[in-house]
Amino acid sequence: MARYAAPGQPEGLVRYRDRYDHFIGGEYVPPAKGGYFANPTPVTGAVFTEIARGTAEDVERALDAAHGAAPAWGRTSPAERALVLHRIADRIEANLEALAVAETWDNGKPIRETLAADLPLAVDHFRYFAGVIRAREGGISQISDDLVAYHFHEPLGVVAQIIPWNFPLLMATWKLAPALAAGNAVVLKPAEQTPASIHVLLDLIADLLPPGVLNVVNGFGVEAGKPLASSPRVAKVAFTGETTTGRLIMQYASENIIPVTLELGGKSPNLFFADVAAQRDAFYDKALEGFTMFALNQGEVCTCPSRALIQSTIYDDFLADATTRTEAVRQGHPLDTETMIGAQASNDQLEKILAYLDIGRREGARVVTGGERADLGGELSGGYYVTPTIFEGDNKMRIFQEEIFGPVVAVTRFADYDDAIKTANDTLYGLGAGVWARDGRTAYRAGRDIQAGRVWVNNYHAYPAAAAFGGYKQSGIGRENHRMMLDHYQQTKNLLVSY
Ligand code: NAD
Repeated sequence: MARYAAPGQPEGLVRYRDRYDHFIGGEYVPPAKGGYFANPTPVTGAVFTEIARGTAEDVERALDAAHGAAPAWGRTSPAERALVLHRIADRIEANLEALAVAETWDNGKPIRETLAADLPLAVDHFRYFAGVIRAREGGISQISDDLVAYHFHEPLGVVAQIIPWNFPLLMATWKLAPALAAGNAVVLKPAEQTPASIHVLLDLIADLLPPGVLNVVNGFGVEAGKPLASSPRVAKVAFTGETTTGRLIMQYASENIIPVTLELGGKSPNLFFADVAAQRDAFYDKALEGFTMFALNQGEVCTCPSRALIQSTIYDDFLADATTRTEAVRQGHPLDTETMIGAQASNDQLEKILAYLDIGRREGARVVTGGERADLGGELSGGYYVTPTIFEGDNKMRIFQEEIFGPVVAVTRFADYDDAIKTANDTLYGLGAGVWARDGRTAYRAGRDIQAGRVWVNNYHAYPAAAAFGGYKQSGIGRENHRMMLDHYQQTKNLLVSY
């Protein structure tokens, strides 16, 4: 087993600076009055850098820079912007390992995920939007013999982007790639729990963009996020985070009558129909692996399959096999290449998960496996680790209804198809879902009947750039990925011309 050197070690790929300011107008700018806050790594709990604590004054400066840069950037051709996006993708690709280490250190997720998923997906998002922006067409309608309507796509101008801590670099690139491709200038606020890795990316790509096109204001939600999201100087707010925060973002945006994209929470059901167990073959094996996806990224995934619904006739055997498979998922040092589960992103998140483990027990759910904080010993003792946990209970319980955002799955049984769909849809959320069935008609019907924006059928947790992603119900508004995302970052100009 190999282990990547931690940032700062002599043989390490990354050397984080001791302190990061805001990135405004193409340069680093100290905070106007907020000072700095300490940023620990979840791997060991040790502080490794400090970060500027943004306030309204810093947001205003970033908006000044963005407004200065937006007109010229908006007038560049799609081909010019596509080239910039490809160059950004090239830089990420050329520095993939360093960025993966930086991300793992800041967030706690295992290096095998950052290497195999987070960073390659980030590269692909820039390449995808570099491609689709060049293929974007307006339209012409002949209204009458002497009247013609021309439709143009124009950038919105300056957009605000506020992101969470679970996939810091990937969430940033999901938002930046379409916004920049569409010709907008951006002010982005990273999450306060994972504020550092974006600066490693900035060091690599900042020279590729005109100053002011991409600005980063660090800081906390109310101090820095609120002035950004409520500013009359932004044309749109793109937000990923909790549903409760999403409500506030909508309130701020309503004051300025601007659009929002909200990617919010979830409580995704993962359905296992009886024919999954018809044979103990590769399909069955894949379904078991699909079950363990609740622990991917330590369960800190908005689409975490945090509810497993198993048909009664296979329930006992399938759960027993799924438990064995879950217990084999290797937890360890996030920089070890064999580690499959790393650290929770913050101490607050660790405390929240531990509180839910208590709630589950108190409301009468049975702990099938896990259920406690994991002490991995040595330097990891100060880190934030939880053993993957399977609860068995009832869909009305809080652990089935509330987003835990940890490696915790709540399992229950269903009698038949109608019962499965009813239970799956008995939630405030509608972000993701999984369906496992050999019978094509069952799989297709369930995929259509579940109220969620993304249903994985006989797979789970793929995120291709070309597939639209977003929530039904309280999981959000709008879509990310797919070329339809450009509609969220451009507006339509109509010229009605008499000839
Ligand atoms: P959060 O809402 O606490 O914070 C998200 C961001 O919003 C942070 O940058 C934070 O500083 C900022 N923020 C907080 N309060 C704010 C305010 N009043 N005004 C403006 N900004 C504010 O969410 P989190 O805990 O960082 O992230 C976890 C959540 O994100 C989970 O609910 C998860 O499901 C969701 N998520 C959703 C998706 C998706 O695509 N649907 C993807 C990833 C995460």
